[in-house]
Amino acid sequence: MTPTSITETKPEDWTYVSEGGATIVFSYRGPHNVQFSGHVLRLRKVAHGSSDNTLLDTNTEQPDDPMIAFQENIISKLVPSEFLPSLGVVLLDEDWLRSLIFLRDGDRPAERRQTDQIDVLRNKGVLATDLIGGTPIALEIKPKWGFLPPERHLSPETVAPKTIACRFCMHTSFRMKQGDVGTTYCPLDLFSRDETRIRKAIGALWAGWYESHGSLNNLRFFVEGRMAKPDDDRSVQLLAHFFTAGKSTDIQNLRESFAPVLAQALLDSPVLSLLSTLQRTLDILDVEGLSKLYTQASPDLPSDGLGSSVPDPSMEEWADFVKVYQSEYHSWDHTVPDPGYLRHYLMAYLLSATFKDCSVIIRPKSAQVGSFDATIIDMDIKSMDRLGKWEKLDRKIVEHYKSSGSQRRCIDSQRVSQSGNTQL
Ligand SMILES: [Zn+2]
Repeated sequence: MTPTSITETKPEDWTYVSEGGATIVFSYRGPHNVQFSGHVLRLRKVAHGSSDNTLLDTNTEQPDDPMIAFQENIISKLVPSEFLPSLGVVLLDEDWLRSLIFLRDGDRPAERRQTDQIDVLRNKGVLATDLIGGTPIALEIKPKWGFLPPERHLSPETVAPKTIACRFCMHTSFRMKQGDVGTTYCPLDLFSRDETRIRKAIGALWAGWYESHGSLNNLRFFVEGRMAKPDDDRSVQLLAHFFTAGKSTDIQNLRESFAPVLAQALLDSPVLSLLSTLQRTLDILDVEGLSKLYTQASPDLPSDGLGSSVPDPSMEEWADFVKVYQSEYHSWDHTVPDPGYLRHYLMAYLLSATFKDCSVIIRPKSAQVGSFDATIIDMDIKSMDRLGKWEKLDRKIVEHYKSSGSQRRCIDSQRVSQSGNTQL
């Protein structure tokens, strides 16, 4: 089947929705079209002045965006399809993309515009289910790391901070030192399955959204398919109207009513438990244990960083890995990892990173407050060359955290129940 071509639509039919580090998303708003109505267009970005795209030749056949095969063949084995958006290939056109940039670049945040732009040399993009359009409101949560690492692979210098404060909270502290906006959100509260703690997490997400004027990406609101900022009165009124079941259009009432509604939606859905289990079991050695295993398994390799000189897995290897993960992986002795399984452990860590970095879209099943659907999005493949950077970042974050004197304590509910120690 020939993929659909984006030139069947006009650039002005697409509105800007949001973007992450690697991709940017537009929503179809044109005349009814079976292929495009109810869909978003996900395009790859490229840094200004980057040489990454010099390998792309718009006249030759390019591979499909790997996100599509990764979700179809790998992620779908781990996450039931009802929690995934549908993804398909769409053929792109350089002139069409340039027109889109001309029309919509002004809708992007200034700091993003300074850094990167749509990669106009790609001739294939991704067409995905539009989870935020076609519904009065939608929420996006980027929950991040939902577990504390097991102690056994941590060094004497890191074991205390890493088992007391979660990775996200330590990273937030590090970022604040660099001058970034802070948040009191702790993912372990959101992942706790405890309604009081989930509400506390949602309160912190709200405060982060409100105080950062919507610039933090851990919580986002969408109204009629567009991202809503706290100072956007009409959107806030519509959100309040929705969450208070028509009783109020006031932002304070919105804050009070949306937390219990969202907490219930998260408790009713298995997605957070699923993400936490996947993250936790795939990142079973912590980056420190992984690094030790790497050195042990390949002592003769030049030691220029974890995962350096390791080729990225093919899609077949990913598929084989998932089979291993779903069978013998759980019976391996992870306390003494076998260097013969190094590649499996490296792939497990990369896959864990995919689940640490994804987002969850919560949308109402009907126009009334009540039941919600939760869908997991943004599950991209991570590559081996990121491992060395993550290892360095981990060290910096923990060193900073130790010197900060923070008294923060994050509680991993699953670890507490596993150890039977409720004193934590
Ligand atoms: Zn935390």
